[in-house]
Amino acid sequence: TSFGFKEVHEDEKSELVGKVFTNVASNYDLMNDLMSAGLHRLWKDRLVSELNPFPGMKHLDVAGGTGDVAFGIVDTIKEIKHRAIEEASEDHFTEETQIYVCDINPSMLNIGKKWAIERGLGELPSLIWVEGDAEALKFEDNSMDGYTIAFGIRNVTHIEKVLAEAYRVLKRGGRFLCLELSHVEVPLLKQLYDYYSFSIIPALGEFVAGDRESYQYLVESIRRFPSQEPFASMIADAGFQKVQYENLVGGVVAIHSGLKV
Ligand code: SAM
Repeated sequence: TSFGFKEVHEDEKSELVGKVFTNVASNYDLMNDLMSAGLHRLWKDRLVSELNPFPGMKHLDVAGGTGDVAFGIVDTIKEIKHRAIEEASEDHFTEETQIYVCDINPSMLNIGKKWAIERGLGELPSLIWVEGDAEALKFEDNSMDGYTIAFGIRNVTHIEKVLAEAYRVLKRGGRFLCLELSHVEVPLLKQLYDYYSFSIIPALGEFVAGDRESYQYLVESIRRFPSQEPFASMIADAGFQKVQYENLVGGVVAIHSGLKV
């Protein structure tokens, strides 16, 4: 029941990933909650608080899918604005914030737009949905204050191209932040995690989403992704400074960051 991912040629990876996310789109958010026992929401909150969003910022969330990270950023900025109004410092409030959600898959974006409407953000001009490829962004050089990619970089064909594009679109002083499923080295936790990912996740995929193979792909893609240190080196090689990472749950997830100076 393997997806046969190993045998797939590099050029076909994007097509395969496209199919996977079109298949999982309708169950995507439910499956995330089930698979991570709701933890993915805390991890995304952590990413957003690391980013430290501010009113008037121009931000790009790549592989933004159904919009979770962008919603977190919008909520944080709204809270800051709310406080600014209470303190009567209108300056902050009038600045124009632009949060772009970029994803290659229109099915994922459409679900995100639906969530945005349900959250009352449907008419928000600051939240902009863009179909596009992380490896060839349609944004100008030095145009973004921040760049995030959550559970996305693992799925791309050329990680280096994605990092180069992140570097290109960020302004000097702009932050790159990446949240990704990573590698667990803690012995007992590692065995537990292996069992969970190889046995439970594909079964959950089958019973809840009726799609074992897409979730099998998910597990295989985590194994293939570089571990924390080599990935940090790749970020530095793309030109970023002050590259750091933080492990969450013993490395089940890591947040890498870098600064364009
Ligand atoms: N960031 C969202 C989240 O954390 O819930 C979605 C993550 S989802 C696991 C991965 C997303 O990456 C999918 O929506 C998929 O369409 C997108 N994706 C895959 N390859 C991409 C690429 N080359 N460029 C942009 N998005 C891509």
